[in-house]
Amino acid sequence: MSQYNILLDEKQLPDAWYNIIPDLKAPMAPPLHPATLKPLSPSDLEALFPMALIEQEASMEPMISIPGEIMDVYRLWRPTPLRRALRLEKALDTPAKIFYKNESVSPSGSHKLNTAVAQAYYNKASGIDELTTETGAGQWGTALSIACSMFDMKCTVYMVRVSYDQKPYRRSFMQTYGGNVIPSPSDTTDFGKSVLAENPDTTGSLGMAISEAIEVAAKSGGRVKYSLGSVLNHVLLHQTIIGEEARLQLDSVGEYPDIVIGCVGGGSNYGGIAFPFAKDKLRDGKDIDFIAVEPTACPTLTRGLYAYDYGDTGKMTPLLKQYTLGHNFVPPGIHAGGLRYHGVAQLIAQLVREGEMRAVAYYQNPCFEAAALFAKCEGIVPAPETSHAIRAAVDEALKCKESGEAKTILFNMSGHGHFDMSAYDAYFSGKLQDFDLDEDKLREAEAAIPKVD
Ligand SMILES: *Cc1c(COP(=O)(O)O)cnc(C)c1O
Repeated sequence: MSQYNILLDEKQLPDAWYNIIPDLKAPMAPPLHPATLKPLSPSDLEALFPMALIEQEASMEPMISIPGEIMDVYRLWRPTPLRRALRLEKALDTPAKIFYKNESVSPSGSHKLNTAVAQAYYNKASGIDELTTETGAGQWGTALSIACSMFDMKCTVYMVRVSYDQKPYRRSFMQTYGGNVIPSPSDTTDFGKSVLAENPDTTGSLGMAISEAIEVAAKSGGRVKYSLGSVLNHVLLHQTIIGEEARLQLDSVGEYPDIVIGCVGGGSNYGGIAFPFAKDKLRDGKDIDFIAVEPTACPTLTRGLYAYDYGDTGKMTPLLKQYTLGHNFVPPGIHAGGLRYHGVAQLIAQLVREGEMRAVAYYQNPCFEAAALFAKCEGIVPAPETSHAIRAAVDEALKCKESGEAKTILFNMSGHGHFDMSAYDAYFSGKLQDFDLDEDKLREAEAAIPKVD
């Protein structure tokens, strides 16, 4: 076997997801009802999600087996390759070994299809034929459109306005699979109308698009369900297929990571690669440095409050205990649209809070610089979101060069940037802004966070 392209045989495709919840040191804070602010009962979620997903949300099973129908679709692109970035190591002149898990090979171009397929399957199995959702950069809307087409379902996607304008081909991509794409905020929902009345020129945000998609499901009388591409426990669960494969692959070449890196928007691709290794840290005290990377323009983990907050601007979602910039926060229009989210998965928040993981934030220009270097060395043009993980991996490798340590670095290549060339264009023509948020603006947005004891 080549040491640089570490492939798994199709027969070795893991047939179970890893559930980190039973391994947490402290129990998770319960989700709260958006109206009463009291702990939620599972039935409160039934208007939005099928029971199988609600059960996964709070499951205490350590492994959850993957239904055969989902495995059949996974086999269209899984197992994904693990690569050693040898040419990048040479360019950096580092003694570190850099490995990346390449999730960009999925039909949608990112990791998001891992959960989209699972969510479409469980909905279909419960008799649902239509899903609504939001999308930021377009990656999630694409993934869900593909997954719905696989299970013969309809899909309506509310796409954040700034991305809709920046990425016209993303819309065509979704339409190819039958997705119905609407720029958000829109006049198709009461919430969208109310936002437009106040602020007709808004760039939109994931928080707003979520409110619109939820409103459609909530008012459908049970016919339409809602699907979320990140943040929730069941989404991170489905993404652990990434880390489960990576473990087998590293194992096959006698490697184990000292550092595990991923970019964090809602936290799903990072949870996906990190949790199967975090298991060793939580159970056996294994010494692994987990680095969650976010944009300086949306510094949820590094500058947000640890508090209960809504997942959306319209206050329709349950409240989760998390790091948050406030559900009203509208981040600057950076090109890593998938990282423009005010909150983060409760699981990632808790692990950062407890010191099991740490977070760093980067400006977008140094991220694009690292992405361009990566593309020249390894041949793949990364998504702007992924460039954050690459920046951190490069910096850790450069630290190794300083110290002479030969650490093993693993990062998740969450997606490719083939639909983001306008962002690269802005970078190469020097038009990308590096945003600094002043403290007052952040405190202002945080003022909207509800007071919960
Ligand atoms: C959506 C997306 C992200 C951010 O979402 P997470 O849930 O934090 O993973 C990162 N990279 C790519 C390519 C994405 O599409």
